[in-house]
Amino acid sequence: MAASEAHPFAKTGGLAEIAGALPLALARLGHSVTILVPNHRKAVVEAPPAAETPLEAAIPLGRGSQHVAFHRRPLAPNVTAVLVDAPGLFDRDGLYVDRSGVDYPDNAWRFAVFSRAALEYPRLVRERPSILHVHDWQAGLVPVYQKMTLPSDDPYVGGVPTVCTIHNLAFQGRFPASVVPEIGLPPEVMHIQAMEFWGGISYLKGGINFSEKITTVSPSYAREIVTPEGGFTMDGVLRHRAADLVGILNGIDTERWNPAADQYLKAQYSAADLSGKREAKRALLESAGLPADDAALERPLFGIISRLTEQKGFDLIAAAAAPLMSLDASWVMLGSGESRYEDLLRSMAGHRPDRVSATIGFDEGTAHRIEAGADMFLMPSRFEPCGLNQMYSLRYGTVPIVRGVGGLRDTVRNFDPATGSGTGFVFEAYSADAMLQAIDRALEVFRNPAAWKQIQRAGMAEDLSWDASAREYVKVYRGLMRAPDGI
Ligand code: ADP
Repeated sequence: MAASEAHPFAKTGGLAEIAGALPLALARLGHSVTILVPNHRKAVVEAPPAAETPLEAAIPLGRGSQHVAFHRRPLAPNVTAVLVDAPGLFDRDGLYVDRSGVDYPDNAWRFAVFSRAALEYPRLVRERPSILHVHDWQAGLVPVYQKMTLPSDDPYVGGVPTVCTIHNLAFQGRFPASVVPEIGLPPEVMHIQAMEFWGGISYLKGGINFSEKITTVSPSYAREIVTPEGGFTMDGVLRHRAADLVGILNGIDTERWNPAADQYLKAQYSAADLSGKREAKRALLESAGLPADDAALERPLFGIISRLTEQKGFDLIAAAAAPLMSLDASWVMLGSGESRYEDLLRSMAGHRPDRVSATIGFDEGTAHRIEAGADMFLMPSRFEPCGLNQMYSLRYGTVPIVRGVGGLRDTVRNFDPATGSGTGFVFEAYSADAMLQAIDRALEVFRNPAAWKQIQRAGMAEDLSWDASAREYVKVYRGLMRAPDGI
């Protein structure tokens, strides 16, 4: 596997969770996985130190050759992470953007090196993988280099079937056509059925067109991305490959995201005994600097943890800020991203300092404490390939209020007052009104503790583990390994 971020080595979003957890889940099913990740500077949590001196290679790329080093880190039985180092390319503050949020100007080169290096690793260690599985545009060139620059009978990677997973179609790795010779690809890739995309190139399109199978992270998203509304101008490309496109819902790491054993919490809890959740609420309110008296504990507490981008529905929150702030509720929000939304969160907290806390930043521990301490989790995404926080919320008995789109639709069951069934509150239209109505429905049930507990328990009982998803990936892999010529 190759991915640009993976827990515990580096994380900006859901990709890191999946690239961290899927190899472990596959190993539990008896498979052996090597995952290549760039050697970024900032780790999520302290990773185990390197056990040996790195392997080194000089790879031909463009007009010259690039020196790379591979640091091997065993993660679990049958799972090895390989951190790819290249002088000056990955040892930086950010993964993709600088401190002011601007893309690094050499991203085309950085991830070309990463992809080509990922392909070099099996050749260096002389091990032929049965599948190459690449994630998102940053690894999208792996199958392109495989098919366009290496001999088809290369003993280690020639003819190995490739799977490309799209975690978010909004990120396409688009660069000018002038990049093609610089990264050592032949001019033929500038073809409509190869990598050419609106006059330039797209690394993701390369991943899609040069892979035997394409997966994305929920069945609903797989249906959405082949339409003009959900396709980010890539829908035509994907419709062309529709027969090879499959949606597999992400799981979550149920060990790290487990309210009964969460290291970030002072009081753990389970569906059978939710009393620790009240303690988590108290602790969260206190640490957020909000009142935590009995009245505050009775009041609903909304949580938000998010990248602050348009994708996540912050324009709805901006449009509804006044009615939201007038609710008798507390809010704890954590996020970082676009400055307009950072300002929005700060101004909401500024208006109601007794009710609203906004933390601008990225902090794993705070994210866990919000999932545990909040009563409800708001996720009004414009689009959502899968989404993880709504699943963490289900697991933590924190009732999600989500827009019915992509993976949110596939993971949260709308509460039905007639039967009392459901795991959260789902609204359809992308509008502030629809969101406010869903919040009203949630608040009404919140006032009925027995009904609320039923929703919490239903969510906590959902199977969100990776096992089922990993089996789906294995089916995809096996399907390719059985095919006569890998296709
Ligand atoms: P996306 O990948 O689009 O950002 P997901 O819901 O799939 O959205 O995954 C987001 C992941 O990043 C979750 O694990 C979430 O807890 C984490 N996350 C997002 N923002 C923050 C933050 N500010 N601090 C800590 N964790 C965050």
